[in-house]
Amino acid sequence: MTIDDKFVAIVPAAGSGARLGAPLPKQYVELARQPMIYHCLRAFAQVDRIDQTYVLLHPDDSIWETLDRTCFAGRVTALRCGGETRADTVRGGLAMLGRSVDADHWVLVHDAARPLIAAAAINTLIDALARDAVGGLLALPVADTVKREQDGRVVQTVARDHLWLAQTPQMFHYGLLREALARAAEHSITDEAQAVEAMGLKPRLVHGDARNFKITYPQDLALAESLLGGHPLDKEIL
Ligand code: C5P
Repeated sequence: MTIDDKFVAIVPAAGSGARLGAPLPKQYVELARQPMIYHCLRAFAQVDRIDQTYVLLHPDDSIWETLDRTCFAGRVTALRCGGETRADTVRGGLAMLGRSVDADHWVLVHDAARPLIAAAAINTLIDALARDAVGGLLALPVADTVKREQDGRVVQTVARDHLWLAQTPQMFHYGLLREALARAAEHSITDEAQAVEAMGLKPRLVHGDARNFKITYPQDLALAESLLGGHPLDKEIL
C-alpha cells in the first residue's frame, strides 16, 4: 500500500429481504438491540483508512432518516440509488460517487446482510489487496462435500477441490468496477467479482471467516444474535 491509496466503502442496502419473512426490510431488522445494518457500518467506521462509507438505499426508504446515526460520527453517508437488483443498486451508487472519487480509488463493496464482518477482517482484505493489480474478495474454501440436487435427490457429488464460497467485502478500483458492471448490465450477476471475471481478469481470494455469513433465513438471524452475545441459540429454531 502507498500513502496515495484511497479507500471508500459502499454498502448496498436496498433489498427487501423477502426470504427472511420479517415485517421490515432485512437491513433494519433488529439484531442484538440494533438495526442489522448498524453492525457492519460500525465495523467500516472503525477502519481509519476508509475515508467514507456510503449506504445505498432504496429511493422510497423511509426508515434510515428516522434512526439515530450520531454513533457514526459523520463517517457514513446515505445515497438513494437502489435498483431492481443488487448489481443495479451498486451500479447506481458508483455513478453517484462519480464526482468524489478517482478511477484508482479502491472501493470495498459489502452486503448489509453480513452484519458480523469485523474491522480486523476489513483490514486483512485491504492489506492483502492494496498492491494487487486486479483486486479481490473475502472467501472461504468449501469444507463440506458438495451435492448436486434434482427433485430433492442427489444426482451428483461435485469435487470440492478449488471451490470457494464468495463473501463480501469485495475490493476493486473504482474505474475497473464501473466498467465491469457496465459491461455486465445485460447479465444476471450476484457479485462484483463475477463482473470483473467476465473481463478476463482473476480476482484474488483472501481467506475470510465463517462468522461473516449472510443473513438470509430466520435461523441465520438466531445464529447471528447468539454470536453477537444476545440470546442463546434456540434449538427449536435451528
Ligand atoms: O437479497 P440478498 O441477501 O442477496 O442481498 C444482498 C445485499 O444486497 C443486501 O444488503 C441487500 O439489501 C442488497 N440489495 C440491494 N438492492 C437490491 C437487492 C439487494 O441493495 N435490489
